[in-house]
Amino acid sequence: MNQIPRLQFAHLPTPVEDLPRLPQALEVPIRLSIKRDDATGLALGGNKTRKLEYLVAEAQAHGARTLVTAGAAQSNHCRQTAAAAARFGFECILVLSESQTNLTRYESATGNILLDQLLGAEIIWTTRPERDVALQAAFQDAWQAGRRPYQIPYGGSSPVGAAAYAYAFLELVGQGAQPDWVVFASSSGGTQAGIAVGARLAGFRGRVLGISIDEEHDVLQQKVATLANETAELLGEKMTFTPEDIFVNADYLGGGYGVMGAAEMEAVRLFGRQEGILLDPVYTGRAAAGLIDLARKGLFKPGEDVLFWHTGGAPALFAPRYSELLQADH
Ligand SMILES: *Cc1c(COP(=O)(O)O)cnc(C)c1O
Repeated sequence: MNQIPRLQFAHLPTPVEDLPRLPQALEVPIRLSIKRDDATGLALGGNKTRKLEYLVAEAQAHGARTLVTAGAAQSNHCRQTAAAAARFGFECILVLSESQTNLTRYESATGNILLDQLLGAEIIWTTRPERDVALQAAFQDAWQAGRRPYQIPYGGSSPVGAAAYAYAFLELVGQGAQPDWVVFASSSGGTQAGIAVGARLAGFRGRVLGISIDEEHDVLQQKVATLANETAELLGEKMTFTPEDIFVNADYLGGGYGVMGAAEMEAVRLFGRQEGILLDPVYTGRAAAGLIDLARKGLFKPGEDVLFWHTGGAPALFAPRYSELLQADH
């Protein structure tokens, strides 16, 4: 593999742990384990930390002084970017989108928004439909002000960011894990694209299953395949992916992005009560709800080894829009 520039600040390797009680509680005859990328160590961690090791190195190589990125109000990606910026002496501009109603009565800084502020990021508020334009405007303004901005794409999902998950998969293999299934939340596609490349490199025989958080099945498959091809090329590896090579389940989109429903609440509670693991309301709660439903439906054969790749996100539990629902339903 080509070496690409990298900084090292994540706490790696993240642990792999057995979760024996959850399958028992669900009465499904599988072996469940978890890869703890919620514990990557950067300001409460998550999957963006691995990507940022490569993205911030690229920003440094470009002589940038300011990191600019965008996401939803409770974006974990933005919070980790703000932390990486602070850690390496960059300024940070976050373009956060919120619904029109919440923009006007918008909640005080809680969950990831509070952390963004504590980490010293400048926040520019916008709405979801205007987010692309607001991001470009923020970048241009920073450029014109001589702040030498470097733009990190949504979710850190450029080939450089995705490459981190090719290495992460090799890390998993190096830990001796040989699961039949690897299941995780897939949204901007970088995590899944990187894992696809890493799995191919490792000659992995199991299945890699991304649970779509907010994208139609075919759209996500195509996006991940394209990004996996670009990532492999960046790494100098000759391999190609077609959409059919990318295994996606988009049956759990529920009420849409960021809407926590009964399935997500059940998953958050089950992982908490059975295993002492905190999931998040948006990504891992939804992916785990998918895993639980698929296990109940018998997708995984008796005795199979299922690894859930925890991608972080628990700080969003403290946003009132989620904590109020979880409390009310206690
Ligand atoms: C961003 C994020 C994901 C999705 O990862 P992608 O690489 O964007 O597909 C999953 N879980 C959490 C907690 C995230 O913050």
